[in-house]
Amino acid sequence: MADNINVPIRMLVFTSPECYACPDVERIVHKHVGTYYSDLCHISTIDVIEYPKVAEKYNVRSLPTVMIDDEIVLQGLVTESDIQDLLWQRVTGSIMEREESFDARKETLLTISKNSFDSIMNEEFIRPNIGDYLHVGVMQQMMVSLVALDKLVPHLLYQAGRDVGLYGVGTYLMITLNPSIGTEFRAKERFEEVMTGLVKYFSDNETINIPMKLAESAKVVKLNEDMAVLRINGLASACGAPFVGEPLCHFSAGEMAGITEALTGKHAVVHESKCIGTGHTYCEFEIMVSDDKITRTQEEYQDEYIVEDRSQHFQGILHDISTRLHESFISPKDVFERGNIGNEVHFTKLQQAIVNLRMADPFSGALLYAAGRQLGIFGPGRDILQRYLEDENYSWPLTLDQSLHVLNKFFHFGMIQAAKERSDVKIIEEDDQLKIRIYECAMSSGAKDSETTFCDFMAGYIAGRIQILTSKDCIVTETKCHGLGDKFCEFEISFVD
Ligand SMILES: [Zn+2]
Ligand SMILES: [Zn+2]
Repeated sequence: MADNINVPIRMLVFTSPECYACPDVERIVHKHVGTYYSDLCHISTIDVIEYPKVAEKYNVRSLPTVMIDDEIVLQGLVTESDIQDLLWQRVTGSIMEREESFDARKETLLTISKNSFDSIMNEEFIRPNIGDYLHVGVMQQMMVSLVALDKLVPHLLYQAGRDVGLYGVGTYLMITLNPSIGTEFRAKERFEEVMTGLVKYFSDNETINIPMKLAESAKVVKLNEDMAVLRINGLASACGAPFVGEPLCHFSAGEMAGITEALTGKHAVVHESKCIGTGHTYCEFEIMVSDDKITRTQEEYQDEYIVEDRSQHFQGILHDISTRLHESFISPKDVFERGNIGNEVHFTKLQQAIVNLRMADPFSGALLYAAGRQLGIFGPGRDILQRYLEDENYSWPLTLDQSLHVLNKFFHFGMIQAAKERSDVKIIEEDDQLKIRIYECAMSSGAKDSETTFCDFMAGYIAGRIQILTSKDCIVTETKCHGLGDKFCEFEISFVD
């Protein structure tokens, strides 16, 4: 696989159990992809009965439908040779587009990375009103709901982290934290210095003005010429997590790999061998370097899934995280088990992961939306909504007007505000339409114009909350975003008949 398309092309096959043409088309697609593009493509089958929202979002009206990169390429019953020709055309087209969009993604990453550098080194806040920290519970909620929905996500997060490590300013920061990296040219010693740098990077330390609070502490527990084991306590992506059965810190693993590659000039692969998510009390990463090319394959990654009935299992975990998020504001005990550093993490860590994912894999927008919507419908806080509804003397189901009024109050509820996912929320009326405007959103604040919106998770969350208030199905579309060059994010709501 060419290096700059290390994120596989996503092919979506929409089917349903009743569709008579689907099994044939699906089989042919799998056969051709498996034969010619197994390294380049990943096929996700979507049952439209199970995931009606995804089908709706992409306007899939007949089955089977095959999509590549957000575009429908095949629909209905087609012959094998047609399928073969079309796939060939579209896959090569998509590879070329990826080569082009790679530069745009790199630039966006660099901006975010530079923002975080300015924030922590020079105290130039990206979010002047609420500051640049975010509750770790918010980060975990988003990451876990993504991983829960799709098996490719861990691999994508690893690649996103690797890109951030390779092309971000993490390498400069590492040299600031451990200047010896810059002066050591012997390979073995340099690798050691890089590991020392990573320990500082992941430890809560005073070398930088504003700590990132990525983790509580870190240490190297094993080190030889081409392999090291790094143990991290209280890592933001997993701290205090219940038993998930899978490691959770894919982005950090990828970032370590990217930073190590950039600073040693060797190939690097990182594997999270222990995680709080797999029942350990800390996370542990095996970092391997080599002069020869070494890569991680998707297959290797998917072997790590051990839990049956994932979606139900993850539903429980998400519920647990949300409950702990709320608990952490009222309980005196250290709910997220982070010791002295508290419950916050620099928000750009979450942003780097989401933005890179969003730009590398167009389908991740739909995944984020679906995950946000699940949380909006099933997540905690419904009792607060209920209380506001009673305060206003509204009777359920609410009109859109009423539901936005309640939702606005909900967003301003102290505990919700305190998670710092955003600063202010306003309901705007424009062209006879009600819109929700969000300021200093964690997902996109400070990002440069990248010709895309980034806040699909938030859009889905709003849709879920409005749905439980109005009892009507709705679609929320983000029309303004920092990712489109705007100064805030704005969401429009439309109902589905
Ligand atoms: Zn972990
Ligand atoms: Zn946005």
